[in-house]
Amino acid sequence: VEKQLRQAQKMEAIGQLTGGIAHDFNNLLTIVLGNLEMIVEQPELNTEVRSMAYEALASVRRGASLTRRLLAFSRQQPLEPRSVDMAHMVTDMTGLFRRSLGETIQVQCTLPPKLWPVSVDASQLENALLNLAVNARDAMPSGGVLGIEARNVTLTAADLAAHPEAVAGDYVQIAVMDSGVGMAREVLDHVLEPFFTTKPVGKGTGLGLSMVYGFARQSGGHLRITSEVGKGSTVKLLLPRQQGEARPVEPMPMLTGVMPR
Ligand code: ADP
Repeated sequence: VEKQLRQAQKMEAIGQLTGGIAHDFNNLLTIVLGNLEMIVEQPELNTEVRSMAYEALASVRRGASLTRRLLAFSRQQPLEPRSVDMAHMVTDMTGLFRRSLGETIQVQCTLPPKLWPVSVDASQLENALLNLAVNARDAMPSGGVLGIEARNVTLTAADLAAHPEAVAGDYVQIAVMDSGVGMAREVLDHVLEPFFTTKPVGKGTGLGLSMVYGFARQSGGHLRITSEVGKGSTVKLLLPRQQGEARPVEPMPMLTGVMPR
């Protein structure tokens, strides 16, 4: 518990720091961006200068996208919970993964006839599942099976012995499983720390799982990760069952995006 507290404090400190820097940096980038956009519009520019300006513009846009991710990470955006049709969401995400993960990865989806209602921020949940799928894909460079399984689970006092941070009650659990390389104990011990990554520079930010963890905790849920080297990993996201009358479910926007590279 003490370790978790330290982890939470560390996350908060890093979150505040990154949030502050990202916010100010974003303002600066906005100025650079606006000026560059006007520069490339100048008719008298010669081709060489124009192409240099376009290159600078492209870099600034990449920088802006990075600061947006950092801002999202430091959770400056509050959650907007609403009733989410989980079966619909999982089915949609499965379709997105099938279309974008490549032919060597087989995507399997398991849904029970009925899931309890949950109230969460739908777009942050989508982001969380996307992060888990990207990790699964990266763990299976020569292909494999990605499984997504949703089910209702009830945590009892007995379950809590092994997970003191959890709260007994009803949850909807979404598990994302892969048949990839798995994680050694030394890796598993650090995966929730922001900026911890084993991926090459430019590929991994080390923010994925810490964001998913932050989302789970903020939503009143939990995250559980199990892994075996050479066999694969399973990440379980537990979201609390919505209490009381479920509000009518808003239709989900169709997912048409592609997976980030
Ligand atoms: P990133 O993906 O940018 O590295 P994450 O926080 O999502 O950041 O993951 C941190 C690290 O955890 C990864 O670099 C990888 O070593 C490990 N990891 C995460 N998910 C998996 C997985 N499904 N299989 C194997 N290793 C994983």
